[in-house]
Amino acid sequence: MRIRLKLPANAQFRFLPGQYIDLLIPGGIRRSLSIANSPEDEGFIELHLRNYGGPLSNFVFGKLKENDLLRLEGPFGSFFVRDDSDKPMILLASGTGFAPIQSIIEHELQKGSGRQMTLYWGGRRPHDLYFDSLARSWADHGITYVPVVSDALSEDDWRGRSGFVHEAVMRDIADLSSYQVYACGAPVVVLSAKRDFTGRCSLPEDEFFADIFVSGASPSA
Ligand SMILES: Cc1cc2nc3c(=O)[nH]c(=O)nc-3n(C[C@H](O)[C@H](O)[C@H](O)COP(=O)(O)OP(=O)(O)OC[C@H]3O[C@@H](n4cnc5c(N)ncnc54)[C@H](O)[C@@H]3O)c2cc1C
Repeated sequence: MRIRLKLPANAQFRFLPGQYIDLLIPGGIRRSLSIANSPEDEGFIELHLRNYGGPLSNFVFGKLKENDLLRLEGPFGSFFVRDDSDKPMILLASGTGFAPIQSIIEHELQKGSGRQMTLYWGGRRPHDLYFDSLARSWADHGITYVPVVSDALSEDDWRGRSGFVHEAVMRDIADLSSYQVYACGAPVVVLSAKRDFTGRCSLPEDEFFADIFVSGASPSA
């Protein structure tokens, strides 16, 4: 689900693309969610949520209505683009890990940074790549987009790349020594990417930036 939160008119909310907020929901529960829009899109926060069946999912998918009032805290996190580098960027997303990557890409396009960006987006099934058409449209701005599906069923009729998304990166670019990587989403994807990119593809450890979507409350809580 994509939701857009309208901020109060007098709110001073500034964030860096890639950062997240904590949503405070009834029952004293707090969950982290990445901001999906770019800061140029002022006055709003866009969020992409998957239904995991936990408290936040039940609240958003079952109870939340248009114009409800929500409390949030933020922004948090150090997952943002290092502007002091002009290295080409690999943007690696799994599932809703696409949200902060969307924010990053739209911001880079708005400011005309000209940095080379390649997006690898992985999901289990094709429909997990829920903004596939948006990602494809970025090709007009020079962004290479590689969708990767790990568990397609025959009914999906998937003709694109298959397997683990971080392995698709390694098949395409054996030597990552001159790249920066921004990875976001499921723990197994982010941790495998860090291990294999640095261990097998010469990516310097300090050129790997990531947010891991651990469930439950955020480290900031
Ligand atoms: C920095 C950060 C940013 C995040 N950004 C997003 C985001 O943009 N969109 C989003 O949907 N979620 C995001 N998450 C995860 C989010 O905070 C919630 O955990 C998630 O939305 C589910 O909340 P819940 O209360 O429904 O379930 P929870 O109580 O959090 O989890 C219920 C069960 O669902 C499973 N689960 C939860 N999250 C995941 C996951 N990411 N991958 C695999 N299994 C999972 C686990 O088995 C867990 O036990 C982020 C987490 C962090 C730490």
